[in-house]
Amino acid sequence: MVTDTPTDEHGLPARAQEVLAAVPTGLFVAGAWQPAASGDTFAVLDPATGRELVSVADAGPEDGMRALQAAADARSEMAESSPKQRYDWLMAAYQAVTERADELALLMTLEMGKPLAEARGEVTYAAEFLRHFAGEALRIEGGYQRSPAGDTRFLVMRQPVGPTLLITPWNFPMAMGTRKIGPAIAAGCTSVIKPAHQTPLSMLALVEILHEVGLPAGSVNTVTTTHAGAVMEPMIRSGLARKLSFTGSTQVGKKLLEQCAEKVLRTSMELGGNAPFIVFDDADLDDAVDGAMAAKMRNMGEACTAANRIYVQEGVAEEFGRRLAERMAALKVGPGTREGVTVGPLIDEAAQDKVSELVADAVRRGAQVLTGGEADPGQGYFYPPTVLTHVSPQSRMAAEEIFGPVAPLTSFGTEEEVLALANDTSYGLVSYVYTRDLDRSLRMAEQLESGMVGLNQGVVSNPAAPFGGIKESGLGREGGALGIEEFLEVKYVGIGGPRPRAAAQGDG
Ligand code: NAP
Repeated sequence: MVTDTPTDEHGLPARAQEVLAAVPTGLFVAGAWQPAASGDTFAVLDPATGRELVSVADAGPEDGMRALQAAADARSEMAESSPKQRYDWLMAAYQAVTERADELALLMTLEMGKPLAEARGEVTYAAEFLRHFAGEALRIEGGYQRSPAGDTRFLVMRQPVGPTLLITPWNFPMAMGTRKIGPAIAAGCTSVIKPAHQTPLSMLALVEILHEVGLPAGSVNTVTTTHAGAVMEPMIRSGLARKLSFTGSTQVGKKLLEQCAEKVLRTSMELGGNAPFIVFDDADLDDAVDGAMAAKMRNMGEACTAANRIYVQEGVAEEFGRRLAERMAALKVGPGTREGVTVGPLIDEAAQDKVSELVADAVRRGAQVLTGGEADPGQGYFYPPTVLTHVSPQSRMAAEEIFGPVAPLTSFGTEEEVLALANDTSYGLVSYVYTRDLDRSLRMAEQLESGMVGLNQGVVSNPAAPFGGIKESGLGREGGALGIEEFLEVKYVGIGGPRPRAAAQGDG
């Protein structure tokens, strides 16, 4: 139930002003907080009201280059730091984030809109990347072997890539940061981080923590800006950076790949998704509905892993739709800071308009609305949890990311038919399958064209698992044992000799 909690004159929780006043608002360059060279700032808005929360420095290209130069200057010190030192920094940051989880969650809800419980979940998830990669810092391996002919030796070492550029989106403002910063520090790389302009505060608070745990000046730098392209492009093309790790839309990712080609930067691309969620007749329907709620409604549907197309086999389609609509209609929409709210606002007006357009398009093509379906015309960017059935595969939402709380259901007959539908997309991030048939589970897992598959589970994200997509959903993996590899170069040393013992003795 939605209850009233003590609020200030803007309807924010009493602690909000305190938390906002404590967050740094400058650029963090070479170990110091500073304003943009131009003195410009921009407003961070509360998506529940559209009101300004606080303003932060608005970097220009020269600020970006200063930050990158600081990362380049700190390169050797960071590369020479011991694995144990990197472990200690990351574990200290993990402890600090965990201790401050409540205030960090409130800050995240204020700027991004997700309900407090979800923000709390993201802070925990974000902290776990720091802990996971603390461990990875101690496990950077090499190799030593004889060549097949026995006449030489191979020494294989892994070294930090060098200065990195890390660009993150607004939907998981802290976890998408630690998933990059954790392995960068563990590998001994320096970085310049650029958070999304809608949600810079969670990153600024995190960077303050990284500063406090004693990382060398210049090892982690942050620029906030409303001129993402103008600030990042000169850095990418400069030759000072050696890697770009990007999480965001496929459209921007493709543009950045072109820019990275000039200096042949290493790239990691975590891009958009269009996840199919498939329910077969033999699935445990309670589990499947729970899974669909998780896969669809985590982050109000604003997740790259969100179930974007829900395919239900004919025998259970009606029952599944009824149960899902009942669960969706029972969710409470409102400001994420308010107790009892389970669905916060979308990030901005453009997001709200896009969801409305996609629903209108699906309805024009014959979809039926079981619940929701109309944006709230009042204050803030709210959209009600919506279930549509009989969604045509020709609908725009079958091809584009919805990024909102809309569950589009389409029924299917056979396994072959649903496999063709599921793979009929340029994306390939994640797929979900619900069935109790082991043979079918494995056939589907093998044939679905995605980097990840949720088998009878609606959430695949886990710091210890390799997260990433294929096709136009990306390049590389984050998390797991592979996440650190993205920040390491392999160097092979061919060692001449030693010659066989008999020859060596003959020398004497
Ligand atoms: P976006 O528009 O691509 O922005 C992502 C980041 O790139 C932001 O920091 C943005 O800065 C920056 N950016 C935009 N244009 C740029 C340019 N020309 N040069 C350099 N940087 C630029 O994506 P979004 O709307 O924030 O995030 C949603 C998208 O991210 C969805 O497609 C979602 O699927 C994807 N995503 C993928 C994953 C994954 O792991 N695969 C995870 C989360 C989200 P500004 O904020 O200033 O525009």
